[in-house]
Amino acid sequence: MSKAVETTCPYCGTGCGVAVRVTADGVAVEGDARHPSNGGRLCIKGAALGETLVPEGRLLYPAIRDAAGALRRVRWDAALDHVAGALRRIIDTHGPDAVAWYVSGQLLTEDYYVANKLVKGYVGTANIDTNSRLCMSSAVAGHKRAFGEDIVPVSYEDLEQADLVVLVGSNTAWCHPILYQRIVRAKERRPQMKVVVIDPRRTATTDAADLHLPLRAGTDVWLFNGLLSFLHQHGVVDTAFVDAHTCGFDRALAVADNTAGSVRAAAKACGLDESALAEFYRLFARTEKVITAFSMGVNQSSAGTDKVNSIINCHLLTGRIGKPGTGPFSLTGQPNAMGGREVGGLANMLAAHLDLENAQHRELVQTFWRSPSIAHKPGLKAVDLFDAIDASRVKAVWIMATNPVVSLPDADKVKRALGKCELVIVSDVMENTDTTAYAHVLLPALAWGEKDGTVTNSERRISRQRAFLPAPGEARPDWWALAEIGKRWGYADAFGYAAPHEIFDEHARLTAFGNTEALAPRYLNLAGLIGMSAADYDALAPVRWPVPPDRSRPTAHVFSDGRFYTPDRKARFVPTPPRLPVHARDDDYPLVLNTGRVRDHWHTMTRTGLSPRLASHIAEPYVDLHPQDALSCGVREGGLARVATRWGSLVARVRTSGELPRRSVFVPIHWNAQYASDARVGALVNPVVDPVSGEPEFKHTPVRVEEF
Ligand code: SF4
Repeated sequence: MSKAVETTCPYCGTGCGVAVRVTADGVAVEGDARHPSNGGRLCIKGAALGETLVPEGRLLYPAIRDAAGALRRVRWDAALDHVAGALRRIIDTHGPDAVAWYVSGQLLTEDYYVANKLVKGYVGTANIDTNSRLCMSSAVAGHKRAFGEDIVPVSYEDLEQADLVVLVGSNTAWCHPILYQRIVRAKERRPQMKVVVIDPRRTATTDAADLHLPLRAGTDVWLFNGLLSFLHQHGVVDTAFVDAHTCGFDRALAVADNTAGSVRAAAKACGLDESALAEFYRLFARTEKVITAFSMGVNQSSAGTDKVNSIINCHLLTGRIGKPGTGPFSLTGQPNAMGGREVGGLANMLAAHLDLENAQHRELVQTFWRSPSIAHKPGLKAVDLFDAIDASRVKAVWIMATNPVVSLPDADKVKRALGKCELVIVSDVMENTDTTAYAHVLLPALAWGEKDGTVTNSERRISRQRAFLPAPGEARPDWWALAEIGKRWGYADAFGYAAPHEIFDEHARLTAFGNTEALAPRYLNLAGLIGMSAADYDALAPVRWPVPPDRSRPTAHVFSDGRFYTPDRKARFVPTPPRLPVHARDDDYPLVLNTGRVRDHWHTMTRTGLSPRLASHIAEPYVDLHPQDALSCGVREGGLARVATRWGSLVARVRTSGELPRRSVFVPIHWNAQYASDARVGALVNPVVDPVSGEPEFKHTPVRVEEF
């Protein structure tokens, strides 16, 4: 007997469809040929998913820590009564802002929706943030400033149709492998297609590039301000589009002209060869179909939002948006970063892409939820949230599907904060992580293959994650645990969900509720998915939003009508005065630390670490640096080195791959106490954030490397 199930990969934002066959011999995994995002292909991480479906290390039962510090297994009812009672006491004593949730782009949209409804509508605080803050919040902020709404206006098909693909701050080959393969294949089919990679590092992605611009870390705004000036000077302006559909160009241009008004000035600021930069500018100027795809190298910066807007400015100037094969394109890191945005997963957002700071929007959501309250001010963003825990302003935190003791910047401070927090609740699939060590209450969650719901990928495509394995032990869905708290607080009507399709239906209804031109026009509209039965939901094929009521009519390309989601329906040029990263190199810390993913691991390795095949690619934490810097630091290829910043240190194996420019260091993000003796890269990273988005500066921390 065998069972076939179509589901979605739980790793990167590409969102590939996965065809699973469950037989008596085990689980076989291959690409889902019918899924439009990957057409049957999987990268090695996706292909190895079956190897990660093992019982080792699973958290199977709820547990509460006793007075002696030991975790004791308890029944779900007892755990939930304890959580509901303890949170209620803290809220009643200290107010709703004394509690917080820290959730994850690994959650399904349905989990995310219930968490946000409970916290923002029923606790009455917006202290719910997500690890997506670390990943794409600068893109969200940039979209909102330029378009009035957080819209990604490009699809994967657009990428294949472009004649120029500019990849900025993205090792797409490793971090979005199937998307990268789609670009490479399109280039093979249409050799006139050019690929430019803008990245301080030489990576697997630069192998396919016609031009690699190894800019100085943190200087992206100079580069795109220079491009804006260049385009204007050479008359590459879609005047009709700019006049009719945008505003603010003159101010943005003045800033660009003053900061990078010539190729020479831009090249000098970026540390680039002037002729190479001029070649890129000319290529951009003469190519109509241009997509600028960007990822963590842009977002994870103290100037991340300005970097995003400096890119968007160039597309607005040339009218290269809203047409096939054109546009700025944010590549999301996580499987459901986008779904989290759709239901208000960030501390400064409301569900259905509504604004927390807009009284009309708050009233609309509260009316729809029929909730007793609604958060009326933005909550604490990730880094601030853990600072508030450290300062005892936040006294309880519920962490779901994420490992902040490894992944947040200044991670030793996160450790300290959790160590003194009055109540730490952790929902996870693994029993022993760096973060579960600090839990007072542990709640066992469902893993990939067991849970059921939806995710949304980088091109706004909603896909089903379907269950094909029974829940192990007493693991339960995250949405269920959250809803049980709502019921215990007396809101049984609002949280009486029996299955995920009921939650999705409510989410879809909210996207259509009050979604009128006069009230709050939003592009996020799932009206065509309202009223699905359990069977319809189960059979839901991957679909890009918006999903209008009449699904038989093709949806026009985003912004093809030149109308945006600002009050006057015009896009905004945003002036972007360049700023260097906050912390500069100095004599004590003479190099710059950059962090990122490797090809075969995912986040803190709780899943990919289970596959021997994946572990064989890179087996241990490493520090990569230029061979001459290695000499100056007194370390050698293959030896061990201590990597230290003002915030922490770790020990890693030395590599001198030759991929890095001088005075730079790269350390991968994945390893932690479970797989290597305390090699948490988060402990090294400075906690500076972008003032608009709150996204941390993961790509630029002064560092010292010395022999261990
Ligand atoms: Fe999974 Fe991303 Fe690989 Fe696709 S490209 S199989 S979504 S990890």
